[in-house]
Amino acid sequence: MDQLVIFEALIYVLRPYQKEAVTNTLVHFRKSNDSAVIVLPTGAGKSLVIAELAKLAKHKILVLTHVKELVEQNAQKYKSYGLQASIFSAGLKEKSLQHQVTFASVQSLSRNVSQLDQFYSLVIIDECHRVSGEDNSQYQQILQQVRTRNPNLKILGLTATPYRLGMGWIYQKHYHGFVRGEADSPFKHCIYELPLRYMIKNNYLTPPNQIDPAVENYDFSSLSTDSFGRYSASDMNTLLNAQTRATKSIIEHLIDLSTQRQGVMIFAATVMHAKEVLGYLPEQCSALITGETKSTERDLLIKKFKNKEIKYLVNVSVLTTGFDAPHVDVIAILRPTESVSLYQQIVGRGLRLDDNKVDCLVLDYAGNDFDLFSPEVGSKKPNNDNEPVQVLCPGCGFANIFWGKVDEQGKVIEHFGRRCQGLLEDIDGDSQQCDFRFKFKECDACGAENDIAARQCHQCGGVMADPDDKLRAALNLKHAMVLRCSGLSGEVFSENKLKVTYFDEDGASCSEVYDFSNQKSVFVFHQLFAKRRKSTPVPAKWLSAAQVTTTDLIAPDFVIAKLHKKFGWQVSEKLFDYQGSFRKADKS
Ligand SMILES: [Zn+2]
Ligand SMILES: [Zn+2]
Repeated sequence: MDQLVIFEALIYVLRPYQKEAVTNTLVHFRKSNDSAVIVLPTGAGKSLVIAELAKLAKHKILVLTHVKELVEQNAQKYKSYGLQASIFSAGLKEKSLQHQVTFASVQSLSRNVSQLDQFYSLVIIDECHRVSGEDNSQYQQILQQVRTRNPNLKILGLTATPYRLGMGWIYQKHYHGFVRGEADSPFKHCIYELPLRYMIKNNYLTPPNQIDPAVENYDFSSLSTDSFGRYSASDMNTLLNAQTRATKSIIEHLIDLSTQRQGVMIFAATVMHAKEVLGYLPEQCSALITGETKSTERDLLIKKFKNKEIKYLVNVSVLTTGFDAPHVDVIAILRPTESVSLYQQIVGRGLRLDDNKVDCLVLDYAGNDFDLFSPEVGSKKPNNDNEPVQVLCPGCGFANIFWGKVDEQGKVIEHFGRRCQGLLEDIDGDSQQCDFRFKFKECDACGAENDIAARQCHQCGGVMADPDDKLRAALNLKHAMVLRCSGLSGEVFSENKLKVTYFDEDGASCSEVYDFSNQKSVFVFHQLFAKRRKSTPVPAKWLSAAQVTTTDLIAPDFVIAKLHKKFGWQVSEKLFDYQGSFRKADKS
């Protein structure tokens, strides 16, 4: 055994990107105590990066993980350098903090925080997307304790999926110059990231072979997610109960395609569904692991699977992280996946390199329709037919990725981006998010553009009126009218005046006049319409009424008009970029 360890120590040479990740970490922590994240795809060898950093550390450090399998894997990698390390994990039956480097399970260590009574310079968190900002979480309990001895504690996270539905991005700023999360995201900076495409192109991972299964597919499109972006098990069971015939033919199809394959991982939607799937698989070489499987049984099944005594391994959301079986060469997805990240994580289980493995068959029976290589957008897909689109910021030129739609020529015809994510650095080296907003509502008090959901103006601090309150109030007023606006038209008259008419669905209309010889009127018109153009988000500059192409203007979603004794109906308010509970008109 000792000989093997020495031999392994000799063959570990960091890949170029692993070296880069290590270098970036050293450079970052030399100049800053801000927490940082490294993003590497599944199978990129995070444990080697961790081992290298642990080796370079001069003081005591902690490496935290949430599952014992990862504690063990990471510790083994480090020990194979010929170095000693402590393990703190009840599941691994060892609770020691003796050595310079400790690999710990978060659960075990958080129950014994008082034992952390020494100076630690660095905490490395593997699978760090599980860290939440909440003060009483197990991670925070540990970090708070360590900070009492070292207020300048450095924290590094590693993950393949820096984004979680419902929680958002786990870091605020990306080293390529853009903003993702918020100021209170669990980590401050992403200091290194490598896309899956790079890994496959450079033969660090096995290429996926995505086959569109022509047989029956599940149709999960009618399901909706909760605020965390998850599907409920009971919804899925109801839907799957109506599709039992599909399950049988899907499994027959899968077995058929897997005859020449070594290891098949099947991702089922619910426990009930998984049991049904298992029933159609060959009994002697199939097994099921769920959240309820006892850990001894789970360990045994995983061992048998790795030894190829079991060929088909069915699971329900338990084997997406910390599971390492390089021989897996078929991934069958029978569940809806809520994000690109999760989809990549699932497929990633089959992309590790192994002897004689040429590719990994990826069979998506749930019609998830994700592009394995597409970037994570960072928000829930608004509609099923949306895809990630690139939108250049007219302010700073940053290429944003938002959900949107393109036409047949690939031109973006609609997107759901609100604010540019570009990061602008000032001369002091501080960076701030670009201020350009694609969708916005103006502050009634100071005119500043705010996010459409803002409650308080970011510029003057004034309370932002809720558009729904405005609509409700107007609907209750006798002398007010609400147009559910479906379009507008313009007409130039008496040289430099522009009459804008708003129409509602039923043909009702209301007009107002902008006088282009009056500076204030020109200013108001530009505020409302200059950035809201159908053809481009580049702000317009109109010098005269005749220059305005009204077909290019974006109409408000609602127009509120009030009845004036002398002049009749007068436009009093226009609501743009509306996202609330009232139904909008179909825009022409
Ligand atoms: Zn910008
Ligand atoms: Zn304001």
